[in-house]
Amino acid sequence: MFDVIIAANGISARMGFDKLSANLGDATVLNRTVNAFRSIPEIDKIIVVGGNAVELDGVVKVRGGATRFESVFNGLKVATATNILVHDGARPFVSYDLIKRVCDATIRHGSAVPCVKSADSIRRVNDGKIVESIDRETCLLVQTPQGFATDKLKEAFAKAVAEKKNYTDESEIYTEFAEPCHTVDGDVNNVKITTAKDLFGINARIGTGFDVHRFETSGNKPLKLCGIAVAHSDGLLAHSDGDVALHALMDALLTSVGERDIGVHFPDTDESYRGADSAELLKRVLFIVREANAEIVSVNLTIIAQKPKLSPYIEKMRQSLAALLQVSSEKISVSATTTENLGLIGDGKAIAAIAAVTVN
Ligand code: MG
Repeated sequence: MFDVIIAANGISARMGFDKLSANLGDATVLNRTVNAFRSIPEIDKIIVVGGNAVELDGVVKVRGGATRFESVFNGLKVATATNILVHDGARPFVSYDLIKRVCDATIRHGSAVPCVKSADSIRRVNDGKIVESIDRETCLLVQTPQGFATDKLKEAFAKAVAEKKNYTDESEIYTEFAEPCHTVDGDVNNVKITTAKDLFGINARIGTGFDVHRFETSGNKPLKLCGIAVAHSDGLLAHSDGDVALHALMDALLTSVGERDIGVHFPDTDESYRGADSAELLKRVLFIVREANAEIVSVNLTIIAQKPKLSPYIEKMRQSLAALLQVSSEKISVSATTTENLGLIGDGKAIAAIAAVTVN
């Protein structure tokens, strides 16, 4: 009853990378978009125009054109169902209800275009000055999928070819060359992914790490925290250099991308890690995080020590972490606290650290 054309030939100029291949956790943007239509009983054929980089099963693939108009026109040539839906490949959150609503209205009215009201006021501007207020009730934001009787949309496209205009969507063409489109309620969650900001938070994950090390009393081990030397009589007992802060941080980073902890990655039964520089191990952890396609959004580190006094080192620690993680120091916060003289740490026998990181 319906074929659907998915326009997947965008060049993502505003993203700086292929937004349709961007990972949404369980699938790419384009895969998620296509999958939204698979469960709709009214859909006969899914026609994907462009989007060659993405592996898709059970769809008809059609070569994209230089413009959206050309791409959709190519898709229309293989459309055979009575009705057609046209949808943006970059709208992966389209709901079952919205697709059904558009299908039903297309059958009843010959066309259906989902629209939402603007939450912001709308003004016409000329030369940097507001020249007119526009009634929000009469001015709507247009989404996809847009539904049409296939023959009528094909006719409109055939007429529009001669115009060589840059049409932004099918409702513009249908309105100009066929008749005014019928509107249905859109869905504010049906966003079009346009910039990297639109993907922010979708893959956000949190990792936490905790570590504690006892002081070594031999007196000849330097104390290192966050990769910097801290003046104190004793260093921390460990198989490695004992940088308890970096150890907690590494566990936070590893767990944020679903990896096992540093004990698994760098076991203390392995002699090659004896006296290891934790900053070097952190570089390897960073590599694992990047391989998981994750970017560090924020780092929060708390060091728990009764002694030495750490406040003079906090800013230096922050800068050190920024350099080691290759991120801006604004993304990093470091704090220090004591245990009010309670327990092992309060007796000055150990230092602990807690880290929390967010990655996207
Ligand atoms: Mg440790």
